[in-house]
Amino acid sequence: MSADKTYDMFDPANPVLGYIREKSVREPDYLVRLREETAKHPAGRMQITPEQGALMHMLVKLHGAKTAIEIGVFTGYSAAVLAAALPEDGKLYACDHDIRHMDIQHRYWSEAGVQDKIDMRYELANDAFPQWEMEGLIGSVDMIFVDADKGSYISYYEQAMKLLRPGGLLIMDNVLWYGKVADPENVENLTVSVRQFNDFASQQKDVEISTIPIGDGMTLIRKSD
Ligand code: SAH
Ligand code: CA
Repeated sequence: MSADKTYDMFDPANPVLGYIREKSVREPDYLVRLREETAKHPAGRMQITPEQGALMHMLVKLHGAKTAIEIGVFTGYSAAVLAAALPEDGKLYACDHDIRHMDIQHRYWSEAGVQDKIDMRYELANDAFPQWEMEGLIGSVDMIFVDADKGSYISYYEQAMKLLRPGGLLIMDNVLWYGKVADPENVENLTVSVRQFNDFASQQKDVEISTIPIGDGMTLIRKSD
């Protein structure tokens, strides 16, 4: 390897990524299999990466989260990660309008022993948010992970902020959009949506914010006390 060799962090073949995974990711066996099964799906790369999972698992614990929400579940990998980190009496409220992955979600969630901690709703996020408000979650949720349709990120941010407790943590996924957000010449719809969200987030008051170049980029947003 030449001394000045650099690697594209979005290239799945990046050997540095392999190195990080080998040294610092302790992915339970059920997650390895769920990831391998999801990889066969044409939209498999929507799933968080294993090193993202390791970080999110630790964040749940560091934050002492008991109540969490996930928007965009797909085959259930990130939900399994979050739920496994929650305490026995913790709850993950989750929503995805697509019922086609119900079987794979339930297979792995039961194997992981987290099925009882997950309150899964098969509906649109814009229907789930008002329900959670009516159910009394306003100002009480410790942590919210948003990983659904990118065009709605600003709206999900606003709805999530209502539900979070002061000091609560919002995590938004895919905020680097394979690096395209930083290329001004890229004006694809989804790139523009993600960029608009990042512009919006960067201007928010009363939050702390940190974007981490892990996976496809995730932004941590902490609601002020
Ligand atoms: N968080 C998952 C991956 C989610 S992929 C993981 O890392 O394992 C994005 C998901 O968002 C898809 O399953 C899609 O069905 C869902 N989604 C897209 N638009 C949505 C909407 N408006 N409401 C709820 N879910 C939505
Ligand atoms: Ca994602």
